[in-house]
Amino acid sequence: MGRHGLVIHGGAGVTLPEEVSPEGRRACRAKLVQAIDTGYAVLDRGGPALEAVVAAITVLEDSRLFNAGSGSVLNAEGVCELDAALMDGVTLRAGSVAGLRHVKNPIALARAVMDKSAHVMLIGEGAERFAGRVGFPLVTNDELQTARRIEELAREKHSGKKPGKLGTVGCAALDKSGNLAAGTSTGGLNNKQFGRVGDSPLVGSGTYANNATCALSATGEGEYFIRVCAAHDVSALMEYKGLGLEEAAQAAIDKVQKLGGLGGLIAIDRDGRVAMPFNTVGMYRAYRRSDGSSLVAIFDGPEPAA
Ligand code: ASP
Repeated sequence: MGRHGLVIHGGAGVTLPEEVSPEGRRACRAKLVQAIDTGYAVLDRGGPALEAVVAAITVLEDSRLFNAGSGSVLNAEGVCELDAALMDGVTLRAGSVAGLRHVKNPIALARAVMDKSAHVMLIGEGAERFAGRVGFPLVTNDELQTARRIEELAREKHSGKKPGKLGTVGCAALDKSGNLAAGTSTGGLNNKQFGRVGDSPLVGSGTYANNATCALSATGEGEYFIRVCAAHDVSALMEYKGLGLEEAAQAAIDKVQKLGGLGGLIAIDRDGRVAMPFNTVGMYRAYRRSDGSSLVAIFDGPEPAA
């Protein structure tokens, strides 16, 4: 039985420290701790990395604080459209969903696509029909929406800026048997066009896991992460070029940056090393490992007092 641990993110691109209220910061940090502890408990009792990833992400999806599950951002038509993916590093099996309007926990549905369908990715109405068939309760879109996100959409439409507001959630885990898994769940970009799909549910762009290398989840301006196949790129740099996790993860973010994109990623390798590079002001992130090491952070450098 080797070492185990997990790393999570709650999105990159947070605004300047002085623009985030101390209460908001405290609430987000507490939720990150709850998510990491929930996932860690699964690993600590010998559970699989895949289960830890789903457990940690479900806490964040249900929190109404992050851009995933309940509390997701709205598209330009005022509707939540959710995406998620999950990948198993042992078998390279994956499940993915996009454009969901009536599913509270997209990461659980991604798992069901992986386990109970012959496919990797289901979208929109087809994904929701499948959800009904495998016993997921469907919710109204209103149940996913929060007053804060409705306000944010109005503000963004008024400002005429391009789609923005990051805050996706993700997790990558290494279990006691040495197996890796990763998952990502998101509402995508605020004010996005109806039908737009980002990197999060795309295996190899926003989510990837392979026992031979690492497991990771990305966050940021998805279009750029898709164009550089960011998540698979990290794994490929390790596999083909022999780079270490940190170097490979940074190289992928550098490629995103070179194209003009913003974001970050969290990753763990088969030895339990963790990398969390980002090129934004901050990235909600946390990890916990069986050697006792842990971290909860939002910004780069010293955290402002809570
Ligand atoms: N990467 C996500 C997307 O483009 C957004 C985010 O990370 O906040 O859909």
